[in-house]
Amino acid sequence: MSSVMHSFFRALRGITKTADEWRDARTPEQQYVYLMESGKMKGKHLGSCLDSIRRGGLNTCYWPLAIPQLMEFIEKWRVENNDNEQRYHELAIEELYLESELPHIDLVSCPREEEHTEKIQDGRGRIRCFHVEEQEIEAPLESYNSWDEHAQMARLNWMHTGDSEEKGNGRESALETIIDPCYAIISDREVILPFETILQRLNLQPAYITNYCGGTGLKLCRRLDKLPHPGSSLEEDRYCTGHEDRNNAFELFGDGWDLAYYVLKWKQQTPSHEPPWRALWEEQHTPDRSAIVYND
Ligand SMILES: [Zn+2]
Ligand SMILES: [Zn+2]
Repeated sequence: MSSVMHSFFRALRGITKTADEWRDARTPEQQYVYLMESGKMKGKHLGSCLDSIRRGGLNTCYWPLAIPQLMEFIEKWRVENNDNEQRYHELAIEELYLESELPHIDLVSCPREEEHTEKIQDGRGRIRCFHVEEQEIEAPLESYNSWDEHAQMARLNWMHTGDSEEKGNGRESALETIIDPCYAIISDREVILPFETILQRLNLQPAYITNYCGGTGLKLCRRLDKLPHPGSSLEEDRYCTGHEDRNNAFELFGDGWDLAYYVLKWKQQTPSHEPPWRALWEEQHTPDRSAIVYND
């Protein structure tokens, strides 16, 4: 990303009609509601609109919105402005950003085990680790799913489920061979990223946060039915153990103008047709931040 945010650059040059000026006294939240009214974004730059609904720090900017709301806002701008790329940003992209890239995963070796050397390309063009481990487990087996952060997919796990009585009756215990490829994603540099995935990877805020009813300290839960592990009706089981809520916050190394630039970069991935806007189910999870290549 550029070293100076465009909004600062504008202020330094004394460019008038900044987003702040036409925002009047509205808060970013009020401005969002205002701009979502019919026709309010027509003829305005996408960068300016996005910049007018954020709060800003020196290094990052903050939008009090969940990613789907932010996407809805951009969708509305694109409709009202016939998706005119000339109005994404007031400067040609080349004048501001030279080396920036979309946030792809781009590692040199398997993130699970450095010793894994085998690689395979999956149907969507991702380079995955193809190190295979063979395991012998005593039958009968039972499988269960768990989320694999490195492979970005659900993984089947196997375990022995026999009880001790069966063992005592003289039966031979059969072993089953489980073949378990690693599948960790090493690179998705060649993959077309949906816009939602780009936002999820750029977001410096966690996707979910834990909220406790009544704030800190042990309080009675007001959303008992929504607790992940609701207790019995006993009084001591009615205290709030925390709710995993979607974090309505988006934070970026950059401002609204930079965000508009990412919309353009997203489109430019496939010049002949528009890339996917929303992420598929398996693309919803954000990989370990260290795997992603961010801009300087
Ligand atoms: Zn591996
Ligand atoms: Zn609660």
